[in-house]
Amino acid sequence: MKKAIYPGSFDPITNGHLDILKRALEVFDEVVVLVADNQNKKQRFTVEERVLMIKDAVKEYKGVKVDSTHGLTVAYAKKVGATHLIRGLRAVTDFEYEFSLAEANRFIDSSIDMVFFMANPEHSYISSSAIDDMHKANVDISKLVPESVIKTYQKK
Ligand code: ADP
Repeated sequence: MKKAIYPGSFDPITNGHLDILKRALEVFDEVVVLVADNQNKKQRFTVEERVLMIKDAVKEYKGVKVDSTHGLTVAYAKKVGATHLIRGLRAVTDFEYEFSLAEANRFIDSSIDMVFFMANPEHSYISSSAIDDMHKANVDISKLVPESVIKTYQKK
């Protein structure tokens, strides 16, 4: 059974993230969406809120688990028997960041490899920060994020 981790901040999860997840599920039997608790990044939603929004968004998907970690993604992957990390690429700027991240991960544990999916052009402009900016500017984001994100914004 081929198992992969899709790690990220998911702050909040967007339809761009979900597109990558669906495509990863065509390659892997199981994908764990892993919310990384990165204290260096400004947090819009708590880790618990992010996990709940993702769980609701993927409730009809088969082969998906949702979890969070404070530690290294590769360590988590090793612990649960995953062989690959999934990431998405939107633009050249993503490539540079992802390239150095991949090199760092390879240094930490070369037995875990990375798989990259090119963003669907329909979603390539969507980022969690753009979603947050649009929400604050009262732009309708309902076509860009799952319903659970809209509901959680409404509660805040
Ligand atoms: P991180 O803080 O780890 O970069 P993000 O939640 O911003 O976490 O992104 C997680 C992964 O999903 C990254 O590989 C990112 O490039 C990818 N990603 C984010 N938004 C999109 C999108 N709209 N289309 C495709 N991939 C995306």
